[in-house]
Amino acid sequence: MGYQLQKGEMQQLFDALSRDYILLGPVKRKGEGMYSDTDVVRYGELKQWKDLEWDVKSHYSFKEAILPITQILFYFIEDEIKEADAEHRKPAVVFMRSCDVHALKRLDEIYLRNRFEDYYYKRLREKVKIVLMGCESSCKSGFCVSMGTNRTEDYDCAVNIRQNGEAAELDSRWVVLDELLGGSDRALGKSAFKSLMLKSVIPDSVTENWVKVAVPKNCGSDLVHGDFWKEYDSRCIACGRCNFVCPTCTCFTMQDIFYQDNGRSGERRRVHASCMVDGYTDVAGGGSYRKSNGQRMRFKVLHKISDFKKQFGYQMCVGCGRCDDICPEYISFSDCVNRIADMEQEV
Ligand code: SF4
Ligand code: SF4
Repeated sequence: MGYQLQKGEMQQLFDALSRDYILLGPVKRKGEGMYSDTDVVRYGELKQWKDLEWDVKSHYSFKEAILPITQILFYFIEDEIKEADAEHRKPAVVFMRSCDVHALKRLDEIYLRNRFEDYYYKRLREKVKIVLMGCESSCKSGFCVSMGTNRTEDYDCAVNIRQNGEAAELDSRWVVLDELLGGSDRALGKSAFKSLMLKSVIPDSVTENWVKVAVPKNCGSDLVHGDFWKEYDSRCIACGRCNFVCPTCTCFTMQDIFYQDNGRSGERRRVHASCMVDGYTDVAGGGSYRKSNGQRMRFKVLHKISDFKKQFGYQMCVGCGRCDDICPEYISFSDCVNRIADMEQEV
């Protein structure tokens, strides 16, 4: 069902939904950016329609809202174990762009369908409603068109902003919204919304990006064992930022925190991990599978554009461009992939 909401009605809708749902989306945090006097856009709770950041792509993805950076799984108290409560007590409505909706499919693949179901992921995930944020124009670093993630049909509601954010068009596939906006109250003339009903609303999407990526077809052993990766030994500083901003990275590590007042009690946490950081592949006995920064770069890049696809049939990278934006050494993932594709052409 399509709707056209006028000035003030999106806030009205927020107020109505907030009674039963927590609303999460990209929010600008003033002065908390990478450099002094810069802002960062991260996922957080939305109280107001105007809090939702439309102009700038979020630096960190929706992943924080569904797969928390630090998540307490359970508490251990002497000989007893107590499961930690879920992060959101209410179901969540999460606003995200098309590339991120595609990234959510990758998270589901790993946490729900990769041999077993992850209990902690599932209990948050099954309470999520997706609101697609239409993209009127391309961000500077994304290459969603190259990765085929510029459009999606996987949403409960899609929103296109109009009149500089004063008005909006909605495509609803969610009965709760339909009830609020156009349901029985409206038929009885009691609805608080004056919204126009539209025959159809097609979510805004881009058809061209500034950055274009050619995905290599074969990433053979010449590439895997070649010298190409050695330049990253010195360029990359193994900070791991590219992993933390990536909406498709799913690795975690475990931490047991023991409380000071009783050493036999504490909590077990699951914490995001990075394959680019020293120590990630350390194993018992002092071994390590990938020692240099270049080897780690190779693993990350080939996982995103080749290895994941071998297992699941589609590329892992969704072309959001966040890794290019965040790297303090100006290492460009998209450029790296294009260079590999060029080398493939030359053979
Ligand atoms: S590898 Fe980079 S461009 Fe691809 S999904 Fe991850 S952050 Fe986005
Ligand atoms: S963000 Fe850049 S420097 Fe940091 S680990 Fe990733 S590629 Fe290396």
